[in-house]
Amino acid sequence: MPQNTNTKILATIGPATGSKEVLSKLIDAGADAFRFNFSHGTHEEHEKRFKIVRELSKKKKRHISIVADMQGPKLRVGCFENGAVILKDKQEFILDLDETLGTEKRVNLPHVEIFKAVKKGDKLLLNDGNIILEVKKKDDSHIFTTVIVGGKLSDHKGVNLPNIALPISALTQKDINDLKFALKLGVDWVSLSFVQKAQDVKDAKKLIGNKALIISKLEKPSAIEELDEIIALSDAIMVARGDLGVECPIETVPLLQKRIISACRKQAKPVIVATQMLESMINAPTPTRAEVSDVATAVYDMADTVMLSAETAVGSYPVEAVEMMHHIIERVEGDSNFIAQTYHNETHTCSLESLGITYAAKELSEVLPNVAAIVTFTNSGFTTFSMSKERPKLPIVAITPHENVASRMGIVWGVRAVVDTDVFKNFDMIEHIANKHTKALGYGKKGEYIIATAGYPFGQTLMTNLLHTIRIK
Ligand code: PGA
Ligand code: MN
Repeated sequence: MPQNTNTKILATIGPATGSKEVLSKLIDAGADAFRFNFSHGTHEEHEKRFKIVRELSKKKKRHISIVADMQGPKLRVGCFENGAVILKDKQEFILDLDETLGTEKRVNLPHVEIFKAVKKGDKLLLNDGNIILEVKKKDDSHIFTTVIVGGKLSDHKGVNLPNIALPISALTQKDINDLKFALKLGVDWVSLSFVQKAQDVKDAKKLIGNKALIISKLEKPSAIEELDEIIALSDAIMVARGDLGVECPIETVPLLQKRIISACRKQAKPVIVATQMLESMINAPTPTRAEVSDVATAVYDMADTVMLSAETAVGSYPVEAVEMMHHIIERVEGDSNFIAQTYHNETHTCSLESLGITYAAKELSEVLPNVAAIVTFTNSGFTTFSMSKERPKLPIVAITPHENVASRMGIVWGVRAVVDTDVFKNFDMIEHIANKHTKALGYGKKGEYIIATAGYPFGQTLMTNLLHTIRIK
């Protein structure tokens, strides 16, 4: 069966889905990429899953992307004497650097940077924003607060400080160790949590080099302020709505989602919409109507990829959640309103020549009758990313000599990747190669057209200058 949808599915792997049997079912249900969440699990567990995914990709002849998600500077309180306390409205509560177990009066906050950065009147959001504290005064090792909204606070709950740019990098020491491990395994993408500024991405790039591509997770208001710069420095973006909806007013999340997706398309960078997409499927075999609408909206908004988090990591219905997501994508992409939306979104970051060729390929695919597929010959991935960004109505086949470039395409809209080491050997071979792979993927019939784009002479990056029509033999 040829892949029949364009919007990709990224499933987070966890205890519910680490086995070969379940991973295989997730791929069959429509997962194109897996997220390994380094906030949880041991290196041994990640390594085991990594090997299984690569083995299954080979067996199923599908290039499945692996994303290593770094925990980043997620701030958390320490532990309590009894595991949890109930904070009452208007009571006083202290956060401090004392590592002893917490009580109703105080708890450890093991992040010295926060004590310098906060000031009187700042709000601290705990437990995904369910508890709100206001800073009354502070010194180098205590933050004295009043509880504005109380509730239950248990061990290791997260702390968000909206509108406070913390003097901390997006990679902690734990992240650096995890990153080294993930790069050694050979993951395709690394996602950076709590990116605050463009410099964070630059710093990460220094450590990562060419070993993997970078996804910046947008979940801080300060990152939104440097949106275009961060997109330019990143290889892809995640709209990390979970923390974003705590750090920013929750009602701004839908418009930020649209704004970020559009800004990413302008720069031909893949964009993932994440978190709580089918949340109730953690415990139930069917989603709510609101959740179905949420997935559909992300697809209409033209996200490259939609993500499942706890639904597949710890949920009771991981395979059903991927199937449901796939059904929603199928329906939306089959809607004439969706197709009408695949407007040209002008790119500002590549040469006019590349832009013109890519746009022309899309237009040609619509005026020429009987076009089976668009084939992009790519060395770095650039020609394919820019073709994908045009959101053509036909499947995009990426043919590359590099296994790692093919493996990255699991989060890129509409792309089906193939590795062929002969591809750039000789210009005369491209017709034969395009024919062979398009047919093998199940798209082409004799007499139909393939539209091909490439950079010529071959092997150059950031240049698409060739547009070629091929008749399928
Ligand atoms: P997380 O990131 O699941 O790693 O927190 C996504 C989000 O915050 O939405
Ligand atoms: Mn997050």
